[in-house]
Amino acid sequence: MNQLLMDVIIVGGGPSGLSAALVLGRSLRKVLIIDNNHPRNAATKSSHGYLTRDGISPVEFRLLVKEELKRYGTVKTIEDKVDNIEKNEKTFTIGTKNGSFYHTRKVIFATGMKDKLPTIPGFDEIYGTSVFPCPYCDGWEHKDTKLAVFGNKDKLFTYIKLISHWSKNLMVFTNGKCTLSDEQKKELKKHQIPLVETPIKKFQSIHGKLKKVVLIDGIIIPRDGGFIMTDTEQSSNLPAQLGVEMDEKGHYQTKEHGHTNISGIYIVGDATKGFAGIVGAASDGYETGIKINAELVEENWNKNLK
Ligand SMILES: Cc1cc2nc3c(=O)[nH]c(=O)nc-3n(C[C@H](O)[C@H](O)[C@H](O)COP(=O)(O)OP(=O)(O)OC[C@H]3O[C@@H](n4cnc5c(N)ncnc54)[C@H](O)[C@@H]3O)c2cc1C
Repeated sequence: MNQLLMDVIIVGGGPSGLSAALVLGRSLRKVLIIDNNHPRNAATKSSHGYLTRDGISPVEFRLLVKEELKRYGTVKTIEDKVDNIEKNEKTFTIGTKNGSFYHTRKVIFATGMKDKLPTIPGFDEIYGTSVFPCPYCDGWEHKDTKLAVFGNKDKLFTYIKLISHWSKNLMVFTNGKCTLSDEQKKELKKHQIPLVETPIKKFQSIHGKLKKVVLIDGIIIPRDGGFIMTDTEQSSNLPAQLGVEMDEKGHYQTKEHGHTNISGIYIVGDATKGFAGIVGAASDGYETGIKINAELVEENWNKNLK
């Protein structure tokens, strides 16, 4: 495999990368997926909103796709971390943590985003089980329950209004002095949504289900679950090292079909969309896979290659 020139190397084996691999495999392309298996949604037990797979575990989802990909003999997957990439005249050389090198004509970065999560004791137990970032993914399961909204950044007010669609029994925790305007605070009062600025000491839960939010002043507030606004960062800075531009939110900038400002480098999924969701990430990968195949067809036609 190391000596072969691949058509496409896909860095990242989440829904965006796997979807690109499927359509490229069906297009007879030599594809290598390199994935180090740290997906963004690793904390959650069930993923929602993907047709025919509503409620599937992310682990099972990936296994099912990998099983499907076995039909296409030109698609290989390896578990490794890509840690360097070099642009040659017409190809790229990719180096991995395990010391392997691979050569390819095109590269798709499907590397996703990472959430920066609070370090408050008890948070790891509840994240992905009863506290989530996205109401479209997990709001239905928590409708009409006693919910917490955690956050204190731009768009907090919009986020609170959104979550209030799933439950009217809300409390907002800003874990320190809140950034909402006086007008927005008045609006919360009008809608009977209490605002708690006192820092949080810890979370108490049973089997991952949030039970109590304990504040540093000793006050204990019962809650059944919650939603959190997270800060994020790119999982991979390799595209930035190559010169791919980012927008002000830290998402890689792409033109149509995942093209970047670097010829031969494509970016799909959360890394460019921020939070694509599984179906959005898969759609992104599919669209870019089709475009890359068309470009390879064109390049080969002009060179009279097979
Ligand atoms: C708690 C939580 C719950 C969610 N629930 C839902 C839900 O119910 N429904 C829904 O639609 N969406 C949900 N999402 C969002 C969804 O997980 C993402 O939108 C989706 O996974 C994005 O897909 P992706 O392929 O872009 O990235 P990812 O799925 O994050 O995959 C990126 C992959 O790239 C790999 N990678 C990164 N860098 C390298 C490198 N240098 N070398 C090799 N591999 C690398 C990572 O290990 C990872 O496997 C949830 C997110 C979270 C955080």
